[in-house]
Amino acid sequence: MVIDQEKCIGCGICIPYCPVQAIALVGKKAVIDHDTCLECGNCIRSKVVRCPRGAIYEEPGIYETPRAVRRFFSDPMTTHKVTKVPGRGTEEVKTNDVTGRVCRGEVGIALEIGRPCLGATMADIERITMGLAELGIKFEECNPLTHLMADREKGIIAAEYKGEKVVSAIVEFTAPFDQLKPILTKVKELAAQLDTVFSLDLICCYEDDGTLPALPVLAELGIQPRVNAKVNLGLGRPYKIYREQKGGCAS
Ligand code: SF4
Ligand code: SF4
Repeated sequence: MVIDQEKCIGCGICIPYCPVQAIALVGKKAVIDHDTCLECGNCIRSKVVRCPRGAIYEEPGIYETPRAVRRFFSDPMTTHKVTKVPGRGTEEVKTNDVTGRVCRGEVGIALEIGRPCLGATMADIERITMGLAELGIKFEECNPLTHLMADREKGIIAAEYKGEKVVSAIVEFTAPFDQLKPILTKVKELAAQLDTVFSLDLICCYEDDGTLPALPVLAELGIQPRVNAKVNLGLGRPYKIYREQKGGCAS
């Protein structure tokens, strides 16, 4: 994003809306630091900021590689060209009763790396993907982050993107349930190497008796979960393809 220096009157209205403090007054004009800006679009969105002079505009090349990744991962109003999914993750990862992606005997993992104010560098993201790849993880095909990898088996991000930074990105995959403990152990180990924060979404089906099989594993590793659910009243059913391929999906 860029501020037209001719139009800007230095009112400062836009400054607090930037989640990474990329906008600052220099003299009597606001300027945007190109390296810090994550192209989240907050400052230009008219329903958020109303620049009295219409001085903020998109820089030419904002949608070109490699800077385009900042936009696709940081601005929820954009849609990824390949996955066709708006935002940084896959569709409905948290509504398994609709998507049926995670069946009994499996776990779904979504690691949300970075947050506004901190962001996440590709170096941090790659630390996670390379570490998890050592366990033989198969990353979710329909996730925009997977499409930035030069080597999906090793979790290596393509060289052209390595200098980029985004508000956040989600590492997503499904794994057999018996891999849950080694995965979480690895995530705890990797957490100590990061310069940002992350949250871990764990998607797991209930057993017939109402228990959640993941809870004892979390307790053993000293991880305190916050059980969360979205309820979709008749709005969807697990996709038939998942049911057929995976032999049914109770969620
Ligand atoms: S809101 Fe507009 S005029 Fe005011 S400081 Fe920001 S860019 Fe300049
Ligand atoms: S696009 Fe986002 S990160 Fe860049 S200056 Fe505007 S609010 Fe800040």
